[in-house]
Amino acid sequence: MRVIAWLCAAGDLPGRRRQHSVLLVLDLDGTLVHHTEVSGPGNNTLCTKEQWFFIDVRPHAQEFLAFAMERFDLVVFTASTQEYAEQVLRILQLHVPLYSRKHCKKVSDFYEKDLKVLNRPLGQVRLLDDDARSYRSYPENGLPISSWTGDPADDELLRIMRVLSNL
Ligand SMILES: [Mg+2]
Repeated sequence: MRVIAWLCAAGDLPGRRRQHSVLLVLDLDGTLVHHTEVSGPGNNTLCTKEQWFFIDVRPHAQEFLAFAMERFDLVVFTASTQEYAEQVLRILQLHVPLYSRKHCKKVSDFYEKDLKVLNRPLGQVRLLDDDARSYRSYPENGLPISSWTGDPADDELLRIMRVLSNL
C-alpha cells in the first residue's frame, strides 16, 4: 500500500497545512483495520509494551485512502493507544496527524472522541467511525460505517467513497 501524504504532528494541522474545506477524521479499528490476538494468513504483526497484535487491513482501504487524501484534509483519531496506533499507521503507510486515546474523553468507561481538539470549525469536520458512541457528543459530525471483523468480501469503503463524493 502506498499513500503519499504530508507528515506532521497531531495539532499541527490548522493553519498553513490546511488545504481542503472538509477535515475527514478516520477511526482505525473496525473502520480501516481489524486486529486479533491470533495470527492468521497474510496479516501484519505489531507489538506494544503489553502484547502482540495481528492486523488485517480492510478491503479497498488503499483505494479509499488515496481517494480521501485527494479530496480532504485527513487525520486519524482512534481510542486506541498512541503506541498501537503509530504502528497501525505504519502498516497502512499513512502519514497523517494522529489523535489517540490521550485525546479522548472518558465517559462511563468509553473513550469518546473529543473533536474540539482538532482545532477546526465543527461544520468542516466529518468523523468516519464504526462506533456511534465515539461521536455521541457530536452527532452532526458522525459518518457511520459498519464494523469490519475480517470479511474479505466487504465493500463498505467503496460505498463510503460514493457518500463522500457528494460532500
Ligand atoms: Mg472503531
